[in-house]
Amino acid sequence: MSELRLDLATGEWVIIATERARRPHDFRRADAAGETPRETCPFCPGREAMTPGELYREPADGPWSVRVVPNKFPALSPGAEEAAPVSSDPVGMFLRRPGKGHHEVIVESPDHGARLATMSREAIAAVLGAYRARYRALRRTPNDARLIIIFKNCGEEAGTSLSHPHSQLVATPIVPLWIQSKHAVARRYWDMNRRCLYCDLLDAELAQKERVLFETEGFGVFHPFASRLPFETWIMPKRHTPSFGDVRDDELLELAQVLRATFRLLARGLGPFPYNYVVHSAPAGEEDRRFYLWHLEILPRLTMLAGFEMGSRIFINTAAPEATAAFLRSLAPEAALE
Ligand SMILES: [Zn+2]
Ligand SMILES: [Zn+2]
Repeated sequence: MSELRLDLATGEWVIIATERARRPHDFRRADAAGETPRETCPFCPGREAMTPGELYREPADGPWSVRVVPNKFPALSPGAEEAAPVSSDPVGMFLRRPGKGHHEVIVESPDHGARLATMSREAIAAVLGAYRARYRALRRTPNDARLIIIFKNCGEEAGTSLSHPHSQLVATPIVPLWIQSKHAVARRYWDMNRRCLYCDLLDAELAQKERVLFETEGFGVFHPFASRLPFETWIMPKRHTPSFGDVRDDELLELAQVLRATFRLLARGLGPFPYNYVVHSAPAGEEDRRFYLWHLEILPRLTMLAGFEMGSRIFINTAAPEATAAFLRSLAPEAALE
């Protein structure tokens, strides 16, 4: 079982989860093509028994198109407190608490080789529907799900060697300081302007056009002004919605199309590339906020983070977002939407 430890120097929490080091696939090198073999893949149909109790399945009967299961080696788990009681009383200066929370895996497709750029719009919408269903289920337990982060790691440089398409959800009982600070910045903007910072940001990007890849009726896709990484791409909804849990069905379907088009465009420009993406949303129980907007950040892992970034948390981006956006715009983004 894991535990949360407070870093006294930064005020940020760290998860100590030693079981995760024993993940079997961590010790197996992927073959030359960077693919884990289908023969032993725990996410392929027919091996459902290899994953712990199913939390969600679509459709409910018959062959599944999307499944959600608890992570077999969780960073946080709902039963942490009971399984390994950790005293929250500080020992001297040191404060720890049980690693209570949720860590789930969303298996995006029964097809081991499926990719976002090539899946059907309906299949991607089913994945996004699974995100939303789990988000809604977990936000009802705000004590061990204060912050719900949905993310995807793709490629070894991005932190996964398991090539079957999957994403993850981690619900934490704490909101990290830097996220609190992000909210404080947005709240200050609201107090001063009576407007939502993120909606204004999207409007400004769309008006300036320089960093925009494309827009649809409901979404804008752009490389943010202060991009931390080359080809960092944000997808933002035009309808003010603080929580991903409140996205409508029609918006999910449009988001599926937008997400696929974005990946098609990035792949056209970059070839196969490792990436992380993260769905940012207002913390559970604070979803009526007028000053926050859920959004999806795609972070291509084309460069390594090095000493300066680790030491300063200041990123050095070697590609201007205006240039990368212009490059992708030259590759017919309208065609990617079809
Ligand atoms: Zn597989
Ligand atoms: Zn807004």
